[in-house]
Amino acid sequence: MKRVIHWFRRDLRLSDNTALSAASARAEEVVPVYIFDEAAFRSAGCSNAALAFMSSAVAALKESLRARGYELIIRRGAPETELVELCKALSAEAVFCNKCYEPEEKRVEGRVFAALNGAGFGFESFKDSVVWEEQEILTQAGKPFTVFTPYAKAWKARGMPSPRPGFTRRCARARSVEVRSHELPAEFLSPKNSELISVFGVGEQGGLALLRKFMRDRVYEYAAVRDYPAVEGTSRLSPHLRWGTVGIRTVLAELMRARAEADAPGQRKSCDVFLTELIWREFYNQILANFPHVAQRSFRPEYEAIKWSENREHFQAWCWGMTGYPVVDAAMRCLNATGWLHNRLRMIVAMFLTKDLLINWQWGERYFMQKLVDGDLAANNGGWQWCAGTGTDAAPYFRIFNPVAQGKRFDPRGEFVRRWVPELASAPPELVHEPWKDPSLLKRTGYPCRVVLHTEQRIRALELYKSARSRKAAY
Ligand SMILES: Cc1cc2nc3c(=O)[nH]c(=O)nc-3n(C[C@H](O)[C@H](O)[C@H](O)COP(=O)(O)OP(=O)(O)OC[C@H]3O[C@@H](n4cnc5c(N)ncnc54)[C@H](O)[C@@H]3O)c2cc1C
Repeated sequence: MKRVIHWFRRDLRLSDNTALSAASARAEEVVPVYIFDEAAFRSAGCSNAALAFMSSAVAALKESLRARGYELIIRRGAPETELVELCKALSAEAVFCNKCYEPEEKRVEGRVFAALNGAGFGFESFKDSVVWEEQEILTQAGKPFTVFTPYAKAWKARGMPSPRPGFTRRCARARSVEVRSHELPAEFLSPKNSELISVFGVGEQGGLALLRKFMRDRVYEYAAVRDYPAVEGTSRLSPHLRWGTVGIRTVLAELMRARAEADAPGQRKSCDVFLTELIWREFYNQILANFPHVAQRSFRPEYEAIKWSENREHFQAWCWGMTGYPVVDAAMRCLNATGWLHNRLRMIVAMFLTKDLLINWQWGERYFMQKLVDGDLAANNGGWQWCAGTGTDAAPYFRIFNPVAQGKRFDPRGEFVRRWVPELASAPPELVHEPWKDPSLLKRTGYPCRVVLHTEQRIRALELYKSARSRKAAY
């Protein structure tokens, strides 16, 4: 082919990029395009933090391309309209892109295919953001896996892919293009958001630096410390994997290199624990792709019958970090201020919303999407349904976290609580997770009383779930 458009979607990088490699190999010229479809981002519930991350990644991509002699064309609007117009204006023969798996993203891809096809242009989409997609790993009965452990076993048995070559000067020639290009809206890059982005590193270079630092300094300790929010023990790669500023095969290659260089079995085990987390990401991706109803409803129909509480005051207390449970409040204040939350804390606050406040997991799912820099429908929905006990590989409904016990176990010195709940910054260690034991402390500091009592709510939650199960709805 003479000229092909590469349409950047959730793959904001030049290296290890499947569609870009294919375009570079098969076309004489590749024209890089990004389409900012604000309506789609808004209807997906993307947070400002996520849009800021994306905007900074697109700006970095633009710079990287410019350094190689290419101009990234940025358009704003509906992809099906913009891409047809660009194909005509540039006399491009086809559009290449990497696949996305959310229901709405698939619909967009369908519309783009139809529009390009109707106008006489080609369209090809490639698997890129995951190692194994939708129907590639199935049970012996030929069905998608709905339980994680056998899925992970089957996943590991398939072998590791190597990074793709990406965009190389050798296989594509630069050209200057004479079409209209837009700027991304500047409002997302407020100083607050820029500060947030700096924690994760900007774009592909930032993501690769974060990845290498994690593999050099932390991966061998990951298994031991990953559950402690006060410790900088996880990779923080989630926004990079969400927006594709780092390729999954690159992450796996770095991980396998670290594993090969490990001196002790414990270090290798730690690498394996990290691999398991990456497989959770793929597990939820294939769940969403194969069971798209999870985006609207419980995976298990019986839990659609739960009569959730609609107590708005409780919900507000949860959102603002004012529930009176220190670890829950510290977590929510951290999420509100930074757009990111440690996995252990995501589990604690999700369990608290659903099992203590008895509020529908979908309210929490939506709130997370409005705040998280790494908000991702598949992982977020999977995490929420797991905690609520309504999902595929769900924690059974009777598994209910005790927020005090979780705080004491995973933040034993109360460091995380003290960092985010200034009212408790100088609380004595024995009170930091149970400040209500000294009413004068609450009075002095203004820290709120508990909105509900865990012991009572636990019994209510068990009844609620049990009675929903007995009514058994069916899809
Ligand atoms: C209620 C709830 C909501 C969540 N929402 C999201 C979300 O919107 N986006 C998101 O990327 N993750 C989500 N997760 C999963 C997990 O909390 C984050 O991926 C993780 O905290 C990101 O930090 P990290 O990159 O340092 O993770 P690390 O521990 O370093 O893990 C490495 C990578 O593995 C993947 N991963 C790790 N744990 C999980 C998991 N349980 N499910 C899926 N992928 C995982 C992520 O891509 C992560 O970047 C959610 C979990 C829960 C319980």
